[in-house]
Amino acid sequence: MARTIQAIRGMNDCLPSETPLWQWVENKIRQTLASYGYSEIRMPIVENTPLFARAIGEVTDVVEKEMFTFNDRDDESLTLRPEGTAGCVRAGIEHGLLYNQEQRLWYMGPMFRYERPQKGRYRQFHQVGVEIFGISQPEIDAELIMLTARLWKSLGIFEHVTLQLNSIGSLEARRSYRQALVDFLQNHLDVLDEDCKRRLTTNPLRILDSKNEKVQEILNNAPKLHDYLDTESLEHFAQLCELLDAVGIKYEVNQKLVRGLDYYNKTVFEWVTSALGAQGTICGGGRYDGLVEQLGGHSTSGVGFAMGLERLVLLVQEVNNIELPSAVDIYIVYVGEGTRLSAFTVAEKLRSELSHLRTMVHCSGGNFKKQFKRADKSGAKFALVIGETELQTNQVVVKDLLGRADQKTISFDNITTYLSSVF
Ligand code: ATP
Ligand code: MG
Repeated sequence: MARTIQAIRGMNDCLPSETPLWQWVENKIRQTLASYGYSEIRMPIVENTPLFARAIGEVTDVVEKEMFTFNDRDDESLTLRPEGTAGCVRAGIEHGLLYNQEQRLWYMGPMFRYERPQKGRYRQFHQVGVEIFGISQPEIDAELIMLTARLWKSLGIFEHVTLQLNSIGSLEARRSYRQALVDFLQNHLDVLDEDCKRRLTTNPLRILDSKNEKVQEILNNAPKLHDYLDTESLEHFAQLCELLDAVGIKYEVNQKLVRGLDYYNKTVFEWVTSALGAQGTICGGGRYDGLVEQLGGHSTSGVGFAMGLERLVLLVQEVNNIELPSAVDIYIVYVGEGTRLSAFTVAEKLRSELSHLRTMVHCSGGNFKKQFKRADKSGAKFALVIGETELQTNQVVVKDLLGRADQKTISFDNITTYLSSVF
């Protein structure tokens, strides 16, 4: 046998035993987004590399270390998208969706980051992202958070997640805070690790969410971001908090929450859980009022978030014992001269008349014993049995594979009525 080729490290197959849960989660998400009137947008998985460098920021972890970048045959630098916001803004500008308009958009699909694979962290992972354009008011920031809270409830994970919220203010406010933070940290260089030292010159705000406990200790005495915020951002934040209070959504204001991507301003938030170990952030987002202009469009406000589907699926698995349907409801078995044709006729009739049920016909021959084994394995609740006797009398035997009822003989004509009474 030839040597087998394996999947790329950190890129997972989603097997048939796993897809029902994924589909269940994805459907809940689609339903929730639809109930808020949001529209789906689909973008390519590959974009020109400069798009990400410009949107996400040259000195972010994502652009510095995590991108899958390669040259195509014309020597153009292309990148597998590490997130969806940049591509969504690109598409919005390109198709004139943003200027002087309001858009509430969402997308779902694979993202790629060259990270060390571990539980909840992969090189190909899946996000659902939401991006809102043209609305600067805090009402929409609140709506996004309400939408996520409603989604967690419908997924049965609401009790296991908490909301972290912050405002990082305007670019100018952040610049003056940045200076104050750097001045403070310059006096504590001995405590900073290599990573923090590097960030001191490239992206000092990221030091705030360092995992290093010693660094966190000195940060307790560091200047506080909110003392540097502009009044407009403070007012925006206060209104957001008021709206969340009004609908009873609890949050923790975390002044160290700054998020990893450069484009955020004002609101930033994360939903976190302690049920998944180190990879606890299931959803993160914020406002990015400067991004559209930065990417060449007319100045347009933006706010959005992305959630990681792998982490959501893991969390649902961990805390919510849902019963998922099997792929098949009815399995049709048949043995004897001429029975094959009626098996297929009955199956097609069921698919037309009971289209919500999943009907499978046995296709690989063999005696009843072999066929019933397949029927059991399929997970079907009922088998329809056609033998020569049934064929002659225009009937089928309905056998309850879960052993809850005796088998019944039903005429061809009554089969859909009978089956709709038992499902
Ligand atoms: P983290 O701090 O966990 O690296 P991040 O800040 O890089 O997350 P975002 O860029 O905000 O993450 O992406 C939004 C969400 O996408 C995350 O909250 C997480 O649920 C998910 N996510 C990000 N990177 C990965 C990955 N490598 N594997 C699986 N899920 C991921
Ligand atoms: Mg990351």
